[in-house]
Amino acid sequence: MNRKITVVGNWKMHGSKSHVSEFFAALGAHHFKESASIQMESVVCPPFIYLDHAAKLLEQNPKCELGAQDVSAHQAGAFTGQVAATMLAEVGCKYVIVGHSERRQFCQETDDIIAEKFLAAKSAGLTPILCVGETQAQREADLTASVVVGQLQALLAKAGAAAFAQAMIAYEPIWAIGTGLTATPEQAQQVHGLLRLTIAEYDATVAASLPILYGGSVKPNNARTLFSMPDINGALVGGASLNAQDFLAICDAAL
Ligand code: PEP
Repeated sequence: MNRKITVVGNWKMHGSKSHVSEFFAALGAHHFKESASIQMESVVCPPFIYLDHAAKLLEQNPKCELGAQDVSAHQAGAFTGQVAATMLAEVGCKYVIVGHSERRQFCQETDDIIAEKFLAAKSAGLTPILCVGETQAQREADLTASVVVGQLQALLAKAGAAAFAQAMIAYEPIWAIGTGLTATPEQAQQVHGLLRLTIAEYDATVAASLPILYGGSVKPNNARTLFSMPDINGALVGGASLNAQDFLAICDAAL
């Protein structure tokens, strides 16, 4: 086994209890391909309210891992509406997305808050998936490198590169999320390479084993070429992850 590809489905605020049941039934019935050289791991992140239902379905047929779409930076207390990392771990989550561009945009999450969330996730034993990415205007102004590297800095300053052990980064160009526009494999590889190099400047060992996922309109028809790039270790999939057949086709494209 010399490569691992992780496919993470972010359902955002979509779905219903019956959708969860149908989705996991399709997953349970699917025969994942196997390969001697590539390991594929799939992760599904439904809304908080459905995590427990999904966890119970997965107990009977553990075909994928469970993740959450967000986490509180706090351990416990008077934080109405928030969900602690320990609670996510308790219901069976292994992963949590932090710093998704929609939370940066609509919930005013800063790099500092996101770093706190990332560290809260780690202290509860969860694997955080840190999202970074530039807007269309930033790309056109040639600011992609400084934006994505800047988004790592708060965490590097707080916790050093060691924070990225047992963690993941997702490069999600904002202009590609939910738009049908995908970064070309070469554009994505360029940013992934830069992210890995940035971490390597602090710790080459952590950087070498750090999974860096690509997100932004990943579909069954473009996943394979993205996965063929050396620094693309998987995908964070929004829209296509709601449809079990599309999600499974993306998983199968890893092998
Ligand atoms: C996402 O939600 O992170 C995402 C990448 O969405 P989509 O795949 O729909 O672009």
